[in-house]
Amino acid sequence: MSKQKGLLYDSTMCVGCGECYNACKKQNKLKDTNSDFLKDHLSADTYTVVEQHGDLYARKMCMHCTKPTCASVCPVGAFEKSKEGAVIYDAEKCIGCRYCMQACPHQIPRYEWSSTNPRVRKCIMCHDRVAKGLPSACSEACPTGATKFGDMDELIAEAKQRLKDSPDTYYQHIYGLEEAGGGNVLVLASVPFEKLGYTPNLPKEALPELTGRVMEKIPTIVAAGGVFLGSMHWLTKRKNQIAREKRDEQLKRNEH
Ligand code: SF4
Ligand code: SF4
Ligand code: SF4
Repeated sequence: MSKQKGLLYDSTMCVGCGECYNACKKQNKLKDTNSDFLKDHLSADTYTVVEQHGDLYARKMCMHCTKPTCASVCPVGAFEKSKEGAVIYDAEKCIGCRYCMQACPHQIPRYEWSSTNPRVRKCIMCHDRVAKGLPSACSEACPTGATKFGDMDELIAEAKQRLKDSPDTYYQHIYGLEEAGGGNVLVLASVPFEKLGYTPNLPKEALPELTGRVMEKIPTIVAAGGVFLGSMHWLTKRKNQIAREKRDEQLKRNEH
């Protein structure tokens, strides 16, 4: 069996050049969406962004969860965790219910609101390239090594080693290793991750089962107490956010 692949993004090495953003657009044939990439946001045509937080940068993209919530809430199995580690999507199966968008703990999937045949869009960890033994396009383009592609076990070991070797450089945590059950994208930074806009306080367990029950409003979830209330709050917030995104997309379309 092939080894699981993944990405290690080290914000302390990132210079905010946007080469990863451009490479992703090119690789996936995505439209230009903003003349200033640092002001762009995730959309059906933008699978990854580089955000500026003061003098620090932070990449956002799908975390390729080990037990993906998007896949577990999808009633038709449109999402699948591949053997290489990417969480991939089959538009042929998708019925457009958008449960995946509400359920993702990292608020990643986006919808083609303006299409007559809309799909859900997100980073697919360059699945076709990886299947051919190539690294992701974003890691290949990164001039500083801030985005590194490789075998998951090696990336985890390397992230741990960096924290150990440079305790003054790093906030002592590997984001993505355990959040929501962990996944195939790891992040290192010099500050607590919420300061860079990463979702804070995610449980260590995978969310699929919990989320599925919350979305179906099965009463037994009450057993989970505060987690249930937190999840309901999160889902309501996410619903409103998705409604705002839809409105913004429609406004943009009306302007053209
Ligand atoms: S980050 Fe969200 S979209 Fe990506 S695999 Fe996890 S649940 Fe799915
Ligand atoms: S792994 Fe591929 S699809 Fe994902 S952000 Fe990088 S270039 Fe884009
Ligand atoms: S290409 Fe590398 S250095 Fe440039 S913004 Fe992306 S991660 Fe940062």
